[in-house]
Amino acid sequence: MDSIGWELLGRTEQPCMKENRWATNHCPRSPKRLTRSMAQSYRVLYDGQCEICQACVSWLKALDHQNKTICLPISADVLPTVDARLNLDECLRQLHVVTPEGEIHVGWDAVACLARLFPPTWLIGAVGQRFPFRNVGRWLYGFVAKNRYSLSKCRGGACRIAKPEAVRRQAKLEAFWSCYTLGFFIRLPLVLWAGIKAAVQRTNIFARTYNKRLDLLNGKLTILFLNGLLPNTVPLLFGELFTTVLYDGVAIDPGSPKMRRSVARHLLRVKPKIKKVVATHAHEEHVGNLNWLSEVTGAPIYVSEITARFLTPFKKLPWVRAAIIGQPPNLSQPYQLLGETVNAITGHLQVIPTPGHCDDHIVLYDPKEKVLLAGDAFMGSYFATPNPDVDSRKWLVSLERLMELDIEILVEGHGHIHTLRADIPDFPGVVIREDPKVAMSKKLDYLRWLREQIEAGFKEGLPVRVIEASCFPWGRRTSWESCATDECIRLLSLGHFSRTELVRSFVRRDGDQLPTVYEVRISGGE
Ligand SMILES: [Zn+2]
Repeated sequence: MDSIGWELLGRTEQPCMKENRWATNHCPRSPKRLTRSMAQSYRVLYDGQCEICQACVSWLKALDHQNKTICLPISADVLPTVDARLNLDECLRQLHVVTPEGEIHVGWDAVACLARLFPPTWLIGAVGQRFPFRNVGRWLYGFVAKNRYSLSKCRGGACRIAKPEAVRRQAKLEAFWSCYTLGFFIRLPLVLWAGIKAAVQRTNIFARTYNKRLDLLNGKLTILFLNGLLPNTVPLLFGELFTTVLYDGVAIDPGSPKMRRSVARHLLRVKPKIKKVVATHAHEEHVGNLNWLSEVTGAPIYVSEITARFLTPFKKLPWVRAAIIGQPPNLSQPYQLLGETVNAITGHLQVIPTPGHCDDHIVLYDPKEKVLLAGDAFMGSYFATPNPDVDSRKWLVSLERLMELDIEILVEGHGHIHTLRADIPDFPGVVIREDPKVAMSKKLDYLRWLREQIEAGFKEGLPVRVIEASCFPWGRRTSWESCATDECIRLLSLGHFSRTELVRSFVRRDGDQLPTVYEVRISGGE
């Protein structure tokens, strides 16, 4: 248990994530990118082990919309590539900034130099370079720089100069938490601001999709956005839209009973040819209208064998989910079991089992059009608050299997379409211009990184709380950007969807029974 504080901070290294500028810039696997753009930028050398330094980098990233700076964690390999004059010990002691002109600013002067780059902080930078503010600034900077190790207790970067083994042995869990908490509070304004921005964005997308539909591929693919008084709280608070996908005569996931009126309104307007009703999995927002839609349209129901088992009878939902989404009725006869394909109007769809999000999950794939109707088998690259029946190890295997397909259009079950195809028009917030395979491989990388973090955490005998924190290092932008939303989801779902579930999702054993948080704690040694 001794070494954890330090070890965990050491493990906050980022995997290479494309949209995370910071990670890309210091990603050891992309040295070419690093040197090419370096000379024209302000290069900021910071102590990647220190929470205070990492938090300041987060602020820098939030201010730097035009990519004027590149932040580089100090290492013996990196320094010579930046400037031969840089010294490792000096750099660990104080902030160093190398300007595009090749000037080196140190300590407070480096802070003032950076502040002058951005309009909101320009004044601080300008004033900070004049007497007497310059002197005050230098004194204040010197104080923080000298005491940052005692402030954060982890003595982070000092380990590099002094004896790392000794410091590791001394560092205890309190050191980890003090660093983690400090990192959180320095970023708190950013966390709140990111939370507000995300909420505005969600409201905007909700308003633009309210009771709307999206007709694509000359009417072959239609997305019906579903609404309902209480279900509406989900897109507003969490950003997941409710949809039914109509594809070539197949209606997929017709919503919950509380969205039935919305579906009915769409049917009146569109009058679609529905030949089959299919469910991708047994979650309440996907299966509550199976029998109803089948009765209204005369189309037979198709579900997988496990889904059918989950739906007869449908287990009683936790009351929050029952109140907001609605308790689905049991699946009643007649219904058919899905085979390997589903015949649509103009072709056929392959049925591919994709356990992970839940055990019964299937996706539908049109090889002719290269369309993957993914249900909840994708859910964004960095989805961090899963439901309690997620099995992330199975999810990894399923995603690996899907990576073998040729996919040009990825349609998610909660209102996102990933595609680069020009025949899919722009629809901000819904259509994401990204190669589906790239999005999927990002998710795979993220899940693999999480698996590593969690396995290492359990091996070291860490408490679940610490493992959870180690999966969301503040140095990673997505950790604090989604923090407010994730915690809001945890609170409002009474813990049903949370970052803790993410840790649990990697320790599920085979079989239907889910481990409780309590069991995870036992296996985690807490
Ligand atoms: Zn689901």
